[in-house]
Amino acid sequence: MTELDLTAWRELDRRATLALDPQEVRTRPATERRCDFDETILGFTPETVIKEARRCLQCPAPQACVEACPVHNPIPEILWLVAHGDFLAAAWKYRETSNLPEICGRVCPHPCMSSDVVGRRKAPINLERIEQFVMDYAIQHYGHIPTPEPAPPTGYSVGIVGSGPAGLAAAEQLALKGHSVVVYERMPKPGGLLRYGIPNFKLDKRRVLDRKIRQLEQLGIEFRCNVTVGKDITVDELTRRHDALFIAVGTWVEAPLKVPGVNLDGIYKALDFLMRANVPLEDLPPEKRSRPRVGRRVAIIGGGDTATDCARTAVRLGAEEVTIVYRRSAAEMPGTWEDRQQALEEGVRIEYLTAPVRFLGNDAGQVRAMECVRMRLGAPDESGRRRPIPIEGSNFIMNVDTVILAIGFWPDPLIGETTPGLKTHKWGLIVIDPETCQTSREGIFAGGDAVRGPDLVVDAMADGRRAAEHIHAYLLRQGSTRTSPRLTTEGALTRL
Ligand SMILES: Cc1cc2nc3c(=O)[nH]c(=O)nc-3n(C[C@H](O)[C@H](O)[C@H](O)COP(=O)(O)OP(=O)(O)OC[C@H]3O[C@@H](n4cnc5c(N)ncnc54)[C@H](O)[C@@H]3O)c2cc1C
Repeated sequence: MTELDLTAWRELDRRATLALDPQEVRTRPATERRCDFDETILGFTPETVIKEARRCLQCPAPQACVEACPVHNPIPEILWLVAHGDFLAAAWKYRETSNLPEICGRVCPHPCMSSDVVGRRKAPINLERIEQFVMDYAIQHYGHIPTPEPAPPTGYSVGIVGSGPAGLAAAEQLALKGHSVVVYERMPKPGGLLRYGIPNFKLDKRRVLDRKIRQLEQLGIEFRCNVTVGKDITVDELTRRHDALFIAVGTWVEAPLKVPGVNLDGIYKALDFLMRANVPLEDLPPEKRSRPRVGRRVAIIGGGDTATDCARTAVRLGAEEVTIVYRRSAAEMPGTWEDRQQALEEGVRIEYLTAPVRFLGNDAGQVRAMECVRMRLGAPDESGRRRPIPIEGSNFIMNVDTVILAIGFWPDPLIGETTPGLKTHKWGLIVIDPETCQTSREGIFAGGDAVRGPDLVVDAMADGRRAAEHIHAYLLRQGSTRTSPRLTTEGALTRL
């Protein structure tokens, strides 16, 4: 790659650059997209993406946008390449720092955008959709996402537990270093929440995720699905098969709602609802191979991306009235503004400052209504957000046929409980050294939501990359202190 001459750009009139208008992203009309599960955002055209990239001021380092990106994508350099129409070089640049740019270009809320200097004056540069355009262009015009050549085999083997973005990123980084990688996954297909949580209308599984999995398999990574570590095989047994382990099992236990009537028929948990509605039945575990049934009036309890994903899925399943019931105000609601906006356009209503106090059923045990109470906001709680306080006497009845609970996720205690010496917090998150990602057990590393709690794809991916660096260093240290039984003259594996 040639050295980029950014000086000339910096000398451009910043005021003229700031005056450039934001470009429109093509989006399918709400009336059309609410009828199917296809991706809703079509993205930039080659002409508009160039104009959007030209809005970059090319600030000198340290650039706020690069600092804010968890994987430190070299955003100004990428925008320079895009502005000059060199989309393939831009795709390579993304791949220097990111394993999943084609996915982040669709689902990442891009923390870099809120630090974008242009955003202080007008709409920030749409870095998310520029990333989507560049990676889609690479696929369309070159048939693949650029991937570096892997190093020669080292003879070391790494086991990865969980195939979400953290596991996938670690797997790719380690395979590129020449290590043999096996990924153990509880579900029938790899991808974690990219496949089983985030709906198809935000991330096309077949076109985007399956392509990535195939590319990882071509790198030599082996996926062993339908294996629950802690039940079918223990972490200790895996340590005897592999030289190091990376645990990235996410947080898939749905937080309970302690409200009378919560066990009535027609009340779903978010992840169960989303995967049964969005994922092809053959990709689900046998006990989940049926579509959820939604009635005419659907209420989603909770806020954030999970709640909007459930609401938009319910719309696509034919519900006529879909309402998100959230106990705080719009300002405290987590999740991306783009998702919320799209949900509103698709006809979803949001009842802020409202919470259910009981669910009411009919004689057949099917939910038919919920009693709600209005809330006001008090002083901030431990999350830093203002605490919702019920307003006495404000109770009212909302008629519903289906309810979806989207109130948060907890870690599964299985791995912690079945792995002696693996330190977890009292609510089950795995404790690591934040510098090295190593757990309390030597040679066992961890990252992603299983360590942080529910977070973002990009943070999980960043963890996977950081852990891979430290696992590689750990393996090299092993090699210098002992003669590895794994290394044969051909570098082939002797065990497994
Ligand atoms: C509905 C929903 C929508 C979201 N939307 C967005 C979004 O738009 N943008 C965004 O940035 N983030 C979003 N997130 C958050 C994001 O998906 C997660 O932060 C991210 O996937 C975490 O990655 P991970 O690799 O740590 O874990 P996960 O993606 O959760 O993957 C963990 C994997 O480990 C497997 N596993 C668990 N236990 C075991 C075991 N014992 N043995 C073997 N395998 C096991 C699981 O089956 C799973 O495949 C969303 C989350 C949800 C729930």
